[in-house]
Amino acid sequence: MLIVMDRKAAPGEVDSVVAAIESRGYVARPIPGGERVAICVLHNKGPVDASYFLGLSGVKEAIPVTHPYKLVSRESQPEDTVVQVGDVSLGNGNLTIIAGPCAIESEEQALTIARCVKSAGAHIFRGGAFKPRTSPYAFQGLGEEGLRILAKVREKTGMPVVTEAIDREVFDLVETYADVVQIGARNMQNFSLLRRAGRSVKPIMLKRGLSATIQEWLMAAEYIMEGGNSQVILCERGVRTFADHSRNTLDLSSVPVVQKESHLPIIVDPSHAAGRRAQVTPLSRAAVAVGAHGIMVEVHHAPESALSDGAQSLYPHQFELLCREIEPIFGVVRPQSHQMQDDLPTLAGRRLAR
Ligand code: PEP
Ligand code: MN
Repeated sequence: MLIVMDRKAAPGEVDSVVAAIESRGYVARPIPGGERVAICVLHNKGPVDASYFLGLSGVKEAIPVTHPYKLVSRESQPEDTVVQVGDVSLGNGNLTIIAGPCAIESEEQALTIARCVKSAGAHIFRGGAFKPRTSPYAFQGLGEEGLRILAKVREKTGMPVVTEAIDREVFDLVETYADVVQIGARNMQNFSLLRRAGRSVKPIMLKRGLSATIQEWLMAAEYIMEGGNSQVILCERGVRTFADHSRNTLDLSSVPVVQKESHLPIIVDPSHAAGRRAQVTPLSRAAVAVGAHGIMVEVHHAPESALSDGAQSLYPHQFELLCREIEPIFGVVRPQSHQMQDDLPTLAGRRLAR
């Protein structure tokens, strides 16, 4: 249940409603909005009696939440969430470009790629220090040394950095270095990791699970928000299907569905969906056309000698061309996505962040 307070409700009235919710054994989570405060009732085992709350001072409405995800749902927050990463605002009508290698291999490699992607137009640098690899014999990442290199990249280029925490053991360490902590596809339903992410002070990028439905993905985001962290970015990276012409099948239809169901920003990772360099640029164009809030692309200056995912990494000149190509697409999409989402009181004019 969502209790919507009157626009003129005093803070004391909000506190009284919170206390009334808690006195019934539920958890109350106030959600401050642009116009008014809404209070989400959580941890109720059965239906909540609306009439009791409607009688309290300052309460305007009590709306049953029809989805299993509550905090993540647009029902509880009609306005888009904007995730602030350094001076990059993700989700407020900008197109955010995240780029970098699959894995951090050395300081020289990371800085070379970071300088290339920054000058091409990237806003955030990506690179794995702890890598989830299918084979135990494959390169597992540089660990803390990789995180130190990421900090150096941030210091030298000014770009915020995103990197993955592959388990709960490394979360604390990753959190101290990263601007955004990534939870990878393989961990989307690692509930103890999601709970740890819910207590993090850093934004979390939650990738879609290897074969997760949108509902399972949003429920995973609910774990993070339920823990108290509202700064969540969703990342579509394709799901496993019977197809073998690409590594995964990029589900671009998830973008408008997620944008209708949730206020959280959603970006697209065409690299891990495609698995092949030749598909990355066309899929990136499509991701922008479908209205994603951003893209995340793997780039390497020498992909033939990359320690992971070289086959899907763009060369710097290809990434530069990609950034130029998506700009006009974004310009065309802007008024359309605004129109299509007219029923949502959201989506201010979109513009390419630079
Ligand atoms: C990654 O982005 O580095 C990664 C491993 O992706 P995914 O979890 O989507 O496979
Ligand atoms: Mn990769």
